[in-house]
Amino acid sequence: MKYFAKFLLAAVICCIFALASSPATATVVDGNVIIDQRMSENLCALTFDDGPSCFTPQLLDMLNDYGIPATFFLVGNIAEKFPRIVLRMIAEGHEVGNHSWSHPNLRRISRESKKAEITRTNDLLKSLGAQPVYLRPPYGVFDDYTVQVADSLGLSVILWSVDSKDWRHLPANYAMLRNGRGTVYPQGKMRGVFLFHDTHRSTVEDLPRIVKELYEAGCSRFVTISDYLDGLLDPEPGMLMARRHPAGPITSAPPSELLQIQLVERPDGVPE
Ligand SMILES: [Zn+2]
Repeated sequence: MKYFAKFLLAAVICCIFALASSPATATVVDGNVIIDQRMSENLCALTFDDGPSCFTPQLLDMLNDYGIPATFFLVGNIAEKFPRIVLRMIAEGHEVGNHSWSHPNLRRISRESKKAEITRTNDLLKSLGAQPVYLRPPYGVFDDYTVQVADSLGLSVILWSVDSKDWRHLPANYAMLRNGRGTVYPQGKMRGVFLFHDTHRSTVEDLPRIVKELYEAGCSRFVTISDYLDGLLDPEPGMLMARRHPAGPITSAPPSELLQIQLVERPDGVPE
């Protein structure tokens, strides 16, 4: 009985600590959270990190042909060099998120640098007409201060549930990709937030197979991250706090004046 009382006390203390610490992680959507949430249908969100790159326009052409919206997590200093591609992403209905300014490991840099990496990229994306609501930290690595900075900018931290590992080699069959818990989805049940990189020509050229095999594996629809989160049934309290793009048609198209400035400033010969 004495043991039971001690156990009970320890359990209560644990609960108090868990509740006290939950607000700090309330807007972090990690792989397990994505895997565990029940959904109204098998939604699939294609996400492309590290761009834009010279292969991105070809990817946008193909996404356009398929009528599939995607989510791009952009590296600020590259987005600054290719503003027209970012403007195109936004105009064509894709979601644009923050992937830091120079792709560092955010755990290994100073608090000031962390803040600058995230803030500078956010300012740039907003100046191009985007409404970023997500931060995907490079390598999926972050700490409490990263979450704090993201939160102060109105960003939720979001990772992925299925890693294509496309930077290494392309999978033989996308239906056999494992989620973050190492599980292959049963036939017809494929869903999740998929991690790809539009900095690889091979990934971009493989989009037809990605779409075909994921549809065959059970994806009912391809959506942006915001629409994916909207497809969750009974989201956990933390998930309810995750930000989304405002619903409805895209109204954030940049003013034509801005577009003209970007076009004029674009240096000759830059591949887009
Ligand atoms: Zn990255």
